Amino acid sequence: MTIQIAGLDGKTVNIAADALQSFKAAFKGSLLTPDDAPYEETRKVWNAMIDRRPGLIARCTGTADVVQAVRFARQHGLLSSVRGGGHNIAGLAVCEGGLMIDMSLLRGVWVDPAQRVARAQAGCTLGDVDRETQLHGLAAVLGFVSATGIAGLTVGGGFGYLTRNHGWTCDNLVSMEVVTAAAQVLRVSENENADLFWALRGGGGNFGIVTSFEYRLVPVGPEILGGAIAWRGEDARQVLDAYREFSAKAPRELTSVAVLRMAPPAPWLPKEVHGKPIIAIFVCHSGQVEEAQALVAPLRQLGQPVADIVMRRPYAQMQSLLDATQPKGRRYYWKSHYLAGIDGRTIELAAEHAGRIRSPHSAILLFQIQGALNERPPGYSPAGNRDAAYVLNITGSWENADDDAVNVAWARECFEATRSCSTGGTYINFLTEEEGRDRIEAAYSPADLHRLAELKRKYDPDNLFRHTKRVAA
Ligand SMILES: Cc1cc2nc3c(=O)[nH]c(=O)nc-3n(C[C@H](O)[C@H](O)[C@H](O)COP(=O)(O)OP(=O)(O)OC[C@H]3O[C@@H](n4cnc5c(N)ncnc54)[C@H](O)[C@@H]3O)c2cc1C
Repeated sequence: MTIQIAGLDGKTVNIAADALQSFKAAFKGSLLTPDDAPYEETRKVWNAMIDRRPGLIARCTGTADVVQAVRFARQHGLLSSVRGGGHNIAGLAVCEGGLMIDMSLLRGVWVDPAQRVARAQAGCTLGDVDRETQLHGLAAVLGFVSATGIAGLTVGGGFGYLTRNHGWTCDNLVSMEVVTAAAQVLRVSENENADLFWALRGGGGNFGIVTSFEYRLVPVGPEILGGAIAWRGEDARQVLDAYREFSAKAPRELTSVAVLRMAPPAPWLPKEVHGKPIIAIFVCHSGQVEEAQALVAPLRQLGQPVADIVMRRPYAQMQSLLDATQPKGRRYYWKSHYLAGIDGRTIELAAEHAGRIRSPHSAILLFQIQGALNERPPGYSPAGNRDAAYVLNITGSWENADDDAVNVAWARECFEATRSCSTGGTYINFLTEEEGRDRIEAAYSPADLHRLAELKRKYDPDNLFRHTKRVAA
C-alpha cells in the first residue's frame, strides 16, 4: 500500500509499500497511520486549538529509532515535527500531513547523586525527573506544571521555582545527546560541539533532535515550605502592591507567582468564592523551612485572605500544585512579556484586565524570575533576556470553539495594553501559532539571533527541522 505524507516543499510525497516496509524493518518502535487505533490519541497535543493530522507517527524507542526516522524524512524530503511532552502552546509537536517523530515513550531518568547530575531521556515530563531526583533530595531547575515536557522547555530556555537561584533550565545543562539533520549522533557540551551546545540552550527545535539531557542538580527538600494564599479579587490592587515589595525583597530561595483569575471549585478555596474573582500568590522556598516561615509571614498577615495553604510539603507536590488548572484538551491562547519590574501601571492594568476575563479558566500570571539569570553575561546562551525580572503571562483558557473569538480578543487586548510595561523581550516557548518573525526577534538579542541563523546553516542547511519557531528567516 502506498501512503501519502506531506513533503518539505508543500507537495505530497507518495511513499511506496516497499519503502515503508524497509523503514518498518529498521525501526523498533511503532509506526502509526491514521488507520491505527492509537493514532488518534497520539496525534493530540495539550492545546485543543491545534487539530493537525500527521501522515505518519514514528513512536521512537531509543536513539537508533530517532536516527532511522531522520534518515527516512531526509531520504523522502518529508515535513517532520518532533514531539516531547506535546505541551507547546503553538502545537509545534504535530505537523499537518507530515511525519511526527514522537519521543514521548523515552522516559528514563538516571541520577548520579555523588556528582549531582541526572540524565533524562527526551520524552520525560518534569514530574518524571522530579520523582527520581527527589529520592536523593536533589532537583533539576524545571518549570511549574509537572506534565510539561522537559525537551521543549529546556531547548527553549526554561524557568521555574529554582530559577531565581540558578538561572534558566538551559543554563544548568551539562551535556546533551543529539541526532542532527544529517542523522549523526553527537554529544554536545562545553567541550564537545560547543557551538551546537550553545544553540540548543534556548534556540528551540531548529538544530536537531535531543535524545537525552544531562542536568546539573541542586539540593532541594525533599520537604520545603510552599503553597498559596488567596484573597478576594476586590483586594487585587492592594495585594499586588504588597507582592511587588515582597517579591523584590525576597531572597533567591523564595520564589512567588501572582495569579489573577476566577476561583476554581478547588477544595482549598471556600465555596463562597468559587466562580468569583480572586488573587492568589503561590510561594515556594527551596531552603530551610524554619527560615522560610518568617519570610512568608508578612504575606500571610496581609488583609483578609480567604485561604492559606502555605505549609511544609514535599517539593514534588509543590511542583504539581498548578497541574489541575492546566488540563490537556482545553482550548488555550497565551500572550506574554518579560518585565524588568512591577510598577503602579502594571498593577492597575493587571487588575483592570483581570476584571474583564471571559472564561472561568483564564488567568493573568506574574512569575518572578529575577536573580541568577540576570548575572550571566550577554551571549551566554540564546535564552538570553538577562534583563528580565518577571514574566507576565496572559493565559486564555476555555472549553468551546464558539468562545474562541472573545477569549483570544481578551488576551490580545491585555497584551497590547501592557506592552509599555515590557522590556520588549518575550519567551520563545510561550509564543502562539500566529506569532511570527517580530516576536521571534523579540525573544532573542540581535547578536544571538544572527549567531543562531549561522549555526542553523551549519547544522541544518536544508532546513529539515522547520516545524518550530524558526531562527533563520
Ligand atoms: C501547562 C504548561 C505549563 C508550562 N509551564 C512552563 C514553565 O513553568 N516554565 C517554562 O519555562 N515553560 C513552561 N511552559 C512552556 C513550555 O516550556 C513549552 O510549552 C514547551 O514547548 C513544552 O515542551 P514539550 O516537550 O512539552 O513540547 P512539545 O510540544 O512536545 O514540543 C515543542 C517543540 O519543542 C521542540 N522539541 C521537542 N522535543 C524536542 C527534542 N527532543 N529535541 C529538540 N527539540 C525538541 C520542537 O521544536 C517541538 O516542536 C508550560 C507550558 C504549558 C502548556
